[in-house]
Order: sequence, then structure tokens, then C-alpha cells
Amino acid sequence: MKSDVKTKGTQDGEKVLHGLGVSTGIAIGPAYIIDQKGLPVPEYCILPNQVEKEIKRFEAAIAKTQKQLSQLRAKAEALPSDANEEIGLLLEAYKGMVSSSRLIRGVETTIVEERLNAETAVQRQIALIAAGFAAMKDDYLASRADDVREVGARLIRNLLQQSYNPFADAPKDSLLMADEITPADTALMDPDRVAGFAAVLGGAEGHAAIMARALGLPAVLGVASLVSGIVTTGDIVIVDGHEGKVILRPTAETLAYYKGEASRQARETKKLKTLRDVPAMTQDGTSVKLMANLELPRDADMALDVGAVGVGLLRTEFSFMNRPDLPSEDEQFEALRDIVKRMDGKLLTVRTLDIGGEKLASALGEGLSESVNPALGLRAIRLGLAEPKLLDAQLAAILRASTYGPLRILIPMVSSVDQIRQVRDRLVQVEKKLLRRGMKLPQTLPPLGAMIEIPAAALVADALSQVCDFFAIGSNDLTQYTLAIDRGDDRVAYLYNPYHPAVIRLIEVVIAAAWRANIPISLCGELAGDPRATALLLGLGLREFSMSPARLPQVKQEIRSLTIGRSVAFAQEILRQADEVTVRRLIDAGAQSIPETVLYARKKK
Ligand code: PEP
Ligand code: MG
Repeated sequence: MKSDVKTKGTQDGEKVLHGLGVSTGIAIGPAYIIDQKGLPVPEYCILPNQVEKEIKRFEAAIAKTQKQLSQLRAKAEALPSDANEEIGLLLEAYKGMVSSSRLIRGVETTIVEERLNAETAVQRQIALIAAGFAAMKDDYLASRADDVREVGARLIRNLLQQSYNPFADAPKDSLLMADEITPADTALMDPDRVAGFAAVLGGAEGHAAIMARALGLPAVLGVASLVSGIVTTGDIVIVDGHEGKVILRPTAETLAYYKGEASRQARETKKLKTLRDVPAMTQDGTSVKLMANLELPRDADMALDVGAVGVGLLRTEFSFMNRPDLPSEDEQFEALRDIVKRMDGKLLTVRTLDIGGEKLASALGEGLSESVNPALGLRAIRLGLAEPKLLDAQLAAILRASTYGPLRILIPMVSSVDQIRQVRDRLVQVEKKLLRRGMKLPQTLPPLGAMIEIPAAALVADALSQVCDFFAIGSNDLTQYTLAIDRGDDRVAYLYNPYHPAVIRLIEVVIAAAWRANIPISLCGELAGDPRATALLLGLGLREFSMSPARLPQVKQEIRSLTIGRSVAFAQEILRQADEVTVRRLIDAGAQSIPETVLYARKKK
């Protein structure tokens, strides 16, 4: 944040900022502004045949920086006109600096002639330009030196792909404030140090939001007015993840109110913990499997703590983020083996790499983000099949880990039957190779399943059910692709709606196909952890849910209050609707609103 926008924010008095509450809970603590300057910059020489690649890397960082500045510019539009004008001018100036021929030519010449890495070339060129400004007699022009340095820091950060920890120095219980928190950033957050966060950019279903929920950290994203100068590191701040508010320098009265709310919520959470060992069973005796989604290995303990009966989704992206190189097969195997062991006989569903789109890994190169439309581009299994070595190494690691406990393999972003056939062929080949290497493996291959998160996959679920051993519905992407809404974009967040009739109908098609083929089906998108969706999903026939561990107790409580009969009647009433407003009204009213007479009439049929 500090690096982009400057406004003369008032430093005194309480100020309430609004955004999207993406992870509930209240956090109170000192603000910690993420200063994206001062990164350690590696300096190294490159070989003559690496020059072209280095220039491409630099060009990609320029493009990314421009994109980020445009996004910030668009966000600023939402601000009051004075602030918008000031910030807008500054951001435009930054954009001009990033694409200035002096910077570009200077960096390219350093790369070509001195054969230095792009980061060093940028750092040197920025230092030269900034020194030029600083030496100017005119105060205004001299102060531009700071802006040049800020632009350079952003460029370098994009070149480095954040393989450093920007929160390392945050004091305990800090509330992080930033322009943008990426999924890779969240993977670096230590919940023992960080109490919550807020950012200018970001939507409710992007991975930063999912990570916040997984870590149990209150978070508010898309806070347009969270601009530099409005808050200073150390200011007391409240992040209200439920209401989507960020309160700066609260008055004693506000503070007392929020402290009371925070203790009430803590009591509630404690009460829910008592549900750990009670069965997830409806009033009429139907058992439901409640599993956990793991973002990071450390979440396994949380999953066990809340009584999850297994892991319905392990996102393996964590192994690939915040590092400059790819993890080896051995490294991947060791990480997986540790989780399998920690689960102590409970099923672990390992999803193969779902990188691309908003989730990027440095070592896979900027090439991935070059796609005009990354969410529709080379990501997930498409990338795996295009880069078989990457997929094979992961499959080998998974197969080796499967000797330590029950495990199944989940393939993300499946859109065709043939993709599953191709993965299965690769799996068989990888198994043969491992056996040739003398590895001991279980007699049978682990079950292979598909994420159903593309409308096409939902519509051919019958065919997919013939080649898959199980399904997992990814309601986050299914919503994104069905409604053509970028799940991470706060500007269209109001249209992102997993309760849209089109999404619900697709979910119904998939569950029905799985029942017909008699294969297990779970839902592991965020919808699974929303207690308001529980009756609907049970009524559609879902008996396996997988969610962030923090959500599990509440969903269990909901299941224990429902009957299947009532849930089916509720789901059918919803399926009859084509208008999202009506569906929303029914969801808000809940399954209890179905009149007894309707239930009785159904029983008689
Ligand atoms: C989903 O799309 O619902 C899902 C679980 O996968 P991810 O959120 O990791 O894309
Ligand atoms: Mg998905």
C-alpha cells in the first residue's frame, strides 16, 4: 500500500472504511503496513544463452506491474473525487515511469551488455534515475525520486515473485494492511503473529480469502479507501470480517463495543468445540461425512481438532509457492507422507497441482500469467498434461506416500473424459517406473477422481462417472465459470453467487450422476462450509462435505438440527426457482420454513 498511493489522510480520530468481509471474526490490534520496499535483491551473472529469457522475464514483470497499477487506478475511482484525482494522477505517473524508455532501455542494455540478472539491472537503473531527480533544484521534482524508487521496488517484487516474507517483522497480533495480499503471501502468514488483514484489492472467493478463512483470520478485502497516509504502522485498528469494516483509531466507546463482541464470538467458538466427538447425523439418523480442506500441512492438526473424518481436499499448491525452484519428487513425497501419517488412518484426498490463474508459482515462470485470460488458460490439469514431467513427479510422490495410509488422487479443472484417461495412463506408467526403481507400493492404485468445477464437466458427469472413482464438486470455480464472474475481482463480487439457480441445477446433475454410477461424491468448495447451504446440499443428495476446519463445527450443528425429509422438500422448492432473488429469500428463510403440510403430503406420496 505504502508504495502506491499517497493522499493527505487525516491521522487523527476514528475512521470507518468499508470493504468485503471475506473471513468472519473480529481482530483488534496494531496496524502493520506492508512495506514492499527494501527487498534483498539477488545479484548474479547470466549466460549468453539466458539473455533472451531474462529480457522476457523483465518484460513480463513490466506487464504485471502495469496491470497492478491499472487495478489500483480502477479502485481509486470509487473514492471521493479529491482523493481519486490525487491518487489517479500519481498512479498514472507511476505507469508512465514503468514504461519509460529510459528505464526499459537501461535495464535491457545492462542485461545484454553486462549479462546481469534483471533484478540487479532494475535496481541499478532505478538508482541512476532516482539520483537524477534527487539532484534537481526544484523541490517537487526532487521528491519524484521517491516515486521512482517505489516503482522500482514494485518491479523487483514482481520479478522476485515474492520469494521473501514481507511479514517477518510484524509484531505479535498485528493487523496487516496492504494493496494486495496474494495467495502466496497468505501461505507465509503465521496466525500466532498475524491477527487479521485488510487490503485494497481482492474478492470474496479468491484464494487470499479462502486462506484467511482456513487460518481463522478475520479479513476485509476490496477496501477502496485503504490508502497510504490514512493509517500508520502501530495505529490501533479493528478488522470486522463479518460486517466488512476496518476501523482505524477507534474511540474508547467503539473499542469497548468490539471487545465485547469479540468475547461473545470466542464463547460461541468454544461452545462449538464441544461438538468435536458427536456424530454428524441428521435427526432422522442419516450419517454425513464431514471432511476438511487443507491449504497447508499445519492445517492437519486443526482438522483433527474439530473432528474431521478425513481430508476431502489437500491443495498441494503450498509446496510450489514462495520459492524460486520446483520441489523435487522426494520433497513432495516427504511433505505428503507427513500429512498422511498425521491423519492416522483417516482418508486423505490429494489434489494435483492447481496452479495458474490467480495462484502462481515463481518457479513455473511468468509465462503462466501471460495468458490474456489466465482463469481460462494453462492451469491445473491442463498444465500437468502439457508438462508431463511436472505431473509425473507429483504422481510419483503421491503413490509413494500412499504406502503410509489411505489416500486418493483428485484432478482439478477436468473438462473431458479423455483428460482422466490420460492421467490414469500416466499413473500406470509412473507406478511401473517406481516399481522398477524398487519402491514398495500398495497392490492397487489409489482411487482417481475429478473435480467437477467446469460446467462442461457437470454436464458430462454421467460419462465422467464411468472413468472416475469419485467426484468432488468445486463450487468456487463452478460458480465462477457458470456465471462468468472472476471470483477474485471485487468489482464484480456482488454478482458472484453460488446460490444462483444455474449453479444449483448443475450441482444437482452431478450428484445424481454420482448416485447412478454409485461412486462417492463430495463438495469441497466454500459452499460446503456455509451452514445456510447445508439443508439444500443434503436435500440434493450430498452426504460428504469438505470444508475449511474452522467451518466444520457449525455445519455439524446444522446437520444435527435437520431431517433428510425436510431437506429434500427444501431442495425441491429451491430447484423449482429460476430467479436468484427468490432462491436467496428461501435460503435466508432456511429449511425450517417448509410448512409441515408440505412434508406430510410428501410422506404420503
Ligand atoms: C473450487 O473451485 O471450489 C475448489 C475447491 O478449488 P479451488 O478453490 O482451489 O479452486
Ligand atoms: Mg477450483
